[in-house]
Amino acid sequence: MYDVMIIGGGPAGITAGIYCARANLKTIIFERECIGGQIASTPSIQNFPGFISINGADFASNLYEQAVNLGVDIVIEEVLDIKPGKVKTIITDDGEYQAKTVIIATGAKHRLLNLPNEEKFIGKGISFCTSCDGAFFKGLDVAIVGGANTAVTNALYMSNLCRKVYLIYHGSKLRCEKALFDGLQEKENVEILYHSSVVEIKGEDELEEIVFEKDGERHNLKVQGMFLSIGMNAETSLVQNILPLSDKKYILSDDCTTAEQGIFVAGDCRNKNLRQLTTAVSDGAEAANFAIHYLENEAKLVGTI
Ligand SMILES: Cc1cc2nc3c(=O)[nH]c(=O)nc-3n(C[C@H](O)[C@H](O)[C@H](O)COP(=O)(O)OP(=O)(O)OC[C@H]3O[C@@H](n4cnc5c(N)ncnc54)[C@H](O)[C@@H]3O)c2cc1C
Repeated sequence: MYDVMIIGGGPAGITAGIYCARANLKTIIFERECIGGQIASTPSIQNFPGFISINGADFASNLYEQAVNLGVDIVIEEVLDIKPGKVKTIITDDGEYQAKTVIIATGAKHRLLNLPNEEKFIGKGISFCTSCDGAFFKGLDVAIVGGANTAVTNALYMSNLCRKVYLIYHGSKLRCEKALFDGLQEKENVEILYHSSVVEIKGEDELEEIVFEKDGERHNLKVQGMFLSIGMNAETSLVQNILPLSDKKYILSDDCTTAEQGIFVAGDCRNKNLRQLTTAVSDGAEAANFAIHYLENEAKLVGTI
């Protein structure tokens, strides 16, 4: 029997684990794929306070070491089901576990175009986050794919850094706020390519060129960077019958607590404005703090944890 079971070994889940372990709680983290979550694959993080620049794999490995050194159990198992109740049960692909509290930190995944070469060039030209990776493309030419607020915000951001920014959108009218659209109109180095879809990605070791289709014709575009701004998929199917979700399938929670007693949420899977490392680790600390207080109150009621 654990005090806390954490689903997801990304920055939010591991931070929650660190806080719980330091409060002397018996804690386990379940990770189905890759310790560190999304950040493990990025070549350089430059917006996390305290690190001028750190490789994503090194950052992930530090997270792992810190949690394990504090006594957190980390297992590579996929959580398949959660049974709520006073004592919660988690069923994984390898067993069954119980605890009085659960922290959901299952994250989210950026949507891809599903083209050959795409995964190979992530971190080598293809990126998702302009505030994370935009500076790597200073003075170069980039494409932003998408047509809603995020894509336009990213185009505006990159227009201040790049020689040329192509905004590639399959529709005929951008789906962004008017102020963003007006801002875009003032940018001389931004070209909006409507009715256009990226159909091919080319390069040796790094992205060099994309091919897009417009009105049935193919065009080649030499760009050093391509930011995919076509949305994210929340990893929340596990809790869809337990917790209320937003229309985009994020877990609804203002403060990392949920309507289910003893179940908390942290990181990119939560409904919020900014999905970054700083907000993920902040959520992890908040969720852990709630779990710690929940268990303390339980102990007062029943005399023991
Ligand atoms: C390429 C890339 C570069 C980025 N660069 C930066 C950057 O420079 N700076 C920055 O601030 N942010 C960056 N981000 C965003 C940042 O990585 C995320 O905001 C952060 O990782 C969110 O942390 P999280 O723990 O909430 O979720 P995630 O990192 O998504 O971790 C969730 C984990 O849960 C696991 N999981 C999901 N479901 C289950 C299940 N059923 N059972 C077990 N495990 C499960 C997943 O495998 C995953 O490892 C980047 C993202 C990407 C993709």
